[in-house]
Order: sequence, then structure tokens, then C-alpha cells
Amino acid sequence: MSEVRTLKVALLGCGNVGAQVARILIDDADALAARSGARLELSGIAVRTIDAPRDVELPRELFTTDADTLVKDADLVIELMGGIEPARSLILTAIQNGACVVTGNKALLAQDGPTLYEEADKAGVQLSYEAAVAGAIPILRPIRDSLSGDRITRVLGIVNGTTNFILDQMDSTGAQFADALAEAQRLGYAEADPTADVEGHDAAAKAAILASLSFHTRFSLDDVYCEGITQVSAADIASAKEAGFVIKLLAIAEKLVDADGGEGISVRVHPTLLPREHPLAAVRGAFNAVFIEAENAGELMFYGQGAGGTPTASAVLGDLVSAARRLVLGGPGRTETTTGHVPALAIDASNTSYYIGLDVADQTGVLARIAHIFAEHGVSIEIMRQTIHRDAASNVESAELKIVTHRASEASLAATVEAVKGLDVINSVTSVLRVEGV
Ligand code: NAP
Repeated sequence: MSEVRTLKVALLGCGNVGAQVARILIDDADALAARSGARLELSGIAVRTIDAPRDVELPRELFTTDADTLVKDADLVIELMGGIEPARSLILTAIQNGACVVTGNKALLAQDGPTLYEEADKAGVQLSYEAAVAGAIPILRPIRDSLSGDRITRVLGIVNGTTNFILDQMDSTGAQFADALAEAQRLGYAEADPTADVEGHDAAAKAAILASLSFHTRFSLDDVYCEGITQVSAADIASAKEAGFVIKLLAIAEKLVDADGGEGISVRVHPTLLPREHPLAAVRGAFNAVFIEAENAGELMFYGQGAGGTPTASAVLGDLVSAARRLVLGGPGRTETTTGHVPALAIDASNTSYYIGLDVADQTGVLARIAHIFAEHGVSIEIMRQTIHRDAASNVESAELKIVTHRASEASLAATVEAVKGLDVINSVTSVLRVEGV
């Protein structure tokens, strides 16, 4: 019987995710060896502070602050430090030394992924990053491998657990954004500085990765239109709810074809209304899900835990075993195809349905005047509902109008809203939100 090969695994970072990866590598060594065809020997763990408290008890001799030396002597490198530097340089060193790399660093991939992918291609090594999008959920490999014989047309993802928790709290309790955020922080779902989550930056990094794999073209953070949830009010949520919708922060990547047959990809992150019966509407709390539409497969949904040390470690280990198998069997690393060459579209070119809330004077002919403006701008109305309110003190009646449009361009919608605002019967435009899934 031939001797089982040993592959040296360098782990960079031993925080929430890294500590769990180290634990599994040690505790499940036999099972991982059986699945990889090689023993995966944890050769060292690079950290900033050797004696920092850890979630898992690990042999002290594994720890080092010399990440560079550790990387140069490894067959497989797992980067779980986060941030741009030194993670970027260490990954490049690993690749240039012929090591396969596994990372969960979406910020780095969204910022400088193309350099890393090209270097990995040149060196013929595998660079894998399943953990970078939607934590434990196997989503990148299904897109890259299982759906490689199909054509993806659209991806809708709830890829940030913090914002999903906040919006879900607002929806279920009627809380304002600030109170729901405070609750998320109290429960550990949001960081003390929640900017990257609530402004949509984290979801935008993941949207760039999802779009790149789905449409075989490299998109970066600069290609992603990004709007967070800080402007979503309790009133928006309540009025969406009344109309049968839920508001979710979606990462969207979709192929659009213009009137001349030109194709482009709209990659965007923004609060979106979804019908309550849409599968993504059922994603509660801090869970993540990605909904894919493909020409032949139809609709698919992937659901699970989008963060957390142990769930994310599962995705990291999956990548590690796959890279180890590749090293054992030989041959080039699994590369991605970038033959799509489709341009990223500006937000003005995107095309979606809209929900518009209007506070209007209760007068005859108001509905017709509003409908006329929509028609003039080529925006067709799918649903228009009116609710009458009477102010008890003044006894003045006003009407709340809720309009859902058919798909229209951002530019036509913006022009329509501007024109509607100019009508003397409009008290205020209470909401303008994008809608998917109708
Ligand atoms: P974390 O808890 O902050 O841990 C970071 C680790 O990296 C710590 O052990 C730290 O060392 C080490 N480190 C940081 N800078 C270093 C440097 N300059 N030199 C050496 N070591 C350094 O991070 P995490 O939550 O595990 O996340 C790791 C990566 O996974 C990030 O890219 C993150 O985006 C990604 N990710 C995380 C999750 C999640 O649920 N946490 C989910 C998906 C993806 P010390 O311990 O000595 O400070």
C-alpha cells in the first residue's frame, strides 16, 4: 500500500473562524485525511499576540508571529486574518511558493481579487473562498461548478445577517432602525461600529464576488451600486407590510438586455420590497439565503447560517479538502472562467418594479392626474391602492396612495417621482423603494 502523503497547512489568524478551523483540523484529522487522500498537518498558526485568549485550547507551540516564514513552508495556506494587509502580501507569497490558498476575506477579494486570481492562475494553484460569501452556505461552488453547464440570469441574495436581523426586527416589532440596531448590538449580531453592514458595504463586496462567478466576468466593488438600510423607516416597513411586502437588503446581480440587444450586468445592493410569499421573504433573523434563476435549472435557493466561527469554518474546511485532493491528484488548480466580457451597468440602466407611497389631498381627479404623469413617463402602474385618513382635530381628509409599478428604468422612475412631487395635490412622497419578485 502506498504511503499517505502529508500536506503542511499554515493557518493565518486564530479568531472567531480561525480557532474553529484549527480545532476541526486537529479533532477530525483522520476523517479529513480519508476525504483528502493526504494527512493535513497544521504546521503553525500566525497571530498578532501569541498569548491572547482563544475560544479553543490549542497547543502553544503552534503559535507564531512570523507569518511570512510559516507561509513559505506550507502546501496549503488558510488566510483568516481579515483586512487588506498583510493578508494580501501573505496570500501572494503563498501563491508564488506554489501553495493553494483558502480565504474568507471578502473585503480583500472585492478590492483586489483580480490580482490574486491572476497570480493563482499563473502559478497553477487553487485560490478558494467559499467562506467569503454567506458563511456556511455552499453557494460559490454550486455557481462555479454545478451550474457551469447552465446560464445564470439573476442572483438575489440576503448576504448580510446583521441587516437582515435589523429589518426583521423592524418588521416583526414595528421598531425604528436605531432601536433595532441597538438590539442587534446587544445580542452580538452587530458590531460596535456597524457601518460596513448597515451602509451595505459588506453586502456589496459579496455582490461583486457573486456577479463575477455568475457572469464569468470580473466585477469589483467599483461596479456595485450600493445603498444601505439606514434610511429605511418604521413607516416604510409598516406601509410595505400593509401592501403585502417585506423589505430586505438584497445583493442583486442580473443580466439586462437593452433594446439593441446589448447585454450588461447590473450589480447592486439596496433595500428591496419582496412579496411576502417570495422564498427570500421567509429568511428571518440573521440567516442568509441566495436565490438563483438559471435558464435551464429554473429557480434555486440556498439557505443557512451566513456567519459565526463554526459555520464559517465548515466552508473553509470544504475548500481545504478540495484543494488537498487536487494536490494529491496533481493537475492545475480549479480555475474560474472569465470569458463573459459583459460590461457592468450603471444604476440608471437597471430596470425594476417600484413601490411608491404618496400622501395626497383627497380630491376628485387626483388619481387620474397621477396616473397621467406615470403614463407620460412610460412607467406603467401594476397596483394602485388608496386609503382615506381623517385628521380628528382638523377634520381634514387626506389619502394615502400606494403604487406598485411594472418594471421601469431608474431614470424614468426618478423623472416620474420629480413630476409627481410638482403636483399641487401631493402633500409628500412617503416612500420610493425598489421591488423584486412580482
Ligand atoms: P477575527 O476574530 O478578528 O480574527 C482575526 C485573527 O487574525 C486574530 O487571531 C488575529 O490575531 C489575527 N491577525 C489579525 N491581523 C494580524 C496580523 N497583522 N498578523 C498576524 N495575525 C493577525 O476575525 P474572524 O471573525 O475570524 O474573521 C476572519 C476572516 O474571515 C475575515 O476576513 C472575515 O471577513 C472572514 N469571515 C468571517 C466570518 C465570521 O462569522 N466571523 C464569516 C465569513 C467570513 P490575534 O488573535 O493575536 O489578535
